[in-house]
Amino acid sequence: MTQQPHDPITDTRALMDITARPPVVFKRGHGSYLWDSTGRRYLDFVQGWAVNCLGHAPPLIASVLGEQGATLITPSPAYYNAPSLKLAEALTDHSCFDRAFFTNSGAEAVEGAIKLARRYGEFHKQGAYEIITFDGAFHGRTLATMSASGKAAFEALFEPKVPGFPKARLNDIASVEALISERTVAVMLEPIQGEAGVWPATLSFLEQLRALTRERGLLLIVDEIQTGIGRTGRLFDYQNAGIEPDIMVLGKGIGGGVPLGALLATEAVSCFRHGDQGGTYNGTPLMCAVGNTVLATVADPAFLAHVGAMGRALTDGLAGLAARHDLGGTRGRGLLIALDLTRDIAPAIVAAALEKGLLINAPRPDTLRFMPALNVTPDEIGACLDVLDGVLAEL
Ligand SMILES: *Cc1c(COP(=O)(O)O)cnc(C)c1O
Repeated sequence: MTQQPHDPITDTRALMDITARPPVVFKRGHGSYLWDSTGRRYLDFVQGWAVNCLGHAPPLIASVLGEQGATLITPSPAYYNAPSLKLAEALTDHSCFDRAFFTNSGAEAVEGAIKLARRYGEFHKQGAYEIITFDGAFHGRTLATMSASGKAAFEALFEPKVPGFPKARLNDIASVEALISERTVAVMLEPIQGEAGVWPATLSFLEQLRALTRERGLLLIVDEIQTGIGRTGRLFDYQNAGIEPDIMVLGKGIGGGVPLGALLATEAVSCFRHGDQGGTYNGTPLMCAVGNTVLATVADPAFLAHVGAMGRALTDGLAGLAARHDLGGTRGRGLLIALDLTRDIAPAIVAAALEKGLLINAPRPDTLRFMPALNVTPDEIGACLDVLDGVLAEL
């Protein structure tokens, strides 16, 4: 059921129909705003799915792409290049990890983490290969990352699944402990389950999980594809819990809108042998140059303080709306926030907001998710709340 966009010259039938999309074609973006092909403006609190951390088409990224594109796009992953060396050093300087491998997507970084953990199990734990993951988890759309995910809609798809991903319950340490066997090599989780509807692991659960994995000789893998790169007000969300994981994967925000992901690990865990891991586009100068610019901007303590302040402003505003319109509470940290509507009105709200020029996301029928640019302004947050207030009043 492909709906044709407003723009009569645009035909969508040559694209595979993989999801329902509103009949709008976007042509241009700037900061927190997008314009469609008819010239209509939208305030964007989806931002490429928590990807455009500096907003749409930031001049900083445009100029880096232009300069690096005119200097060196890729010499091949068989050779070193300066932007990838610099980005690896910056990421390891800013985290508890020692080594990085760059990818083109989040799922590819998670695949790398799974392979690294299995290699570690082979070398250090008599071939242990199971990675305990969680109900509700989302780790990507490759076969292995779908198997690692705990998303109900994935359960019946593309059988047979990749084996080795028993599922525990988030914030229930006993459910993790019960799954540990001699086959277990690691536990992997999102510090906040984003796609499931913004369900945070509590900071005490993260602490318990680090203690348990240490005690049992297991690796702790954090999937910070959605929570990393400043989204929660710290550069990485694991820092909010004061823990040090063994492996971390990044995606989304690290590229500020261009395809870039990363697999990071401590020295002790970085055990790939030559030939185990690679990829034609891993760590290209073009993408890593953008990553360097994004990281230098976001890692500034003043920038992270802004994220925290805007997160509080949006959370307070949403709590006000919830009180006025008899809705539930908010969840999340920093600028990854959900509003619990307590009833299945989210799709209707998303559609009505689009009509009024506001883009928001409904990860579940009873939940709205907000993932604006990290440099969003108080005025833009106010404008989003005003539109929502109007939509809720009319519903
Ligand atoms: C988006 C996401 C992924 C997948 O990243 P892609 O770039 O879409 O492959 C994996 N894990 C989490 C937590 C995500 O939010």
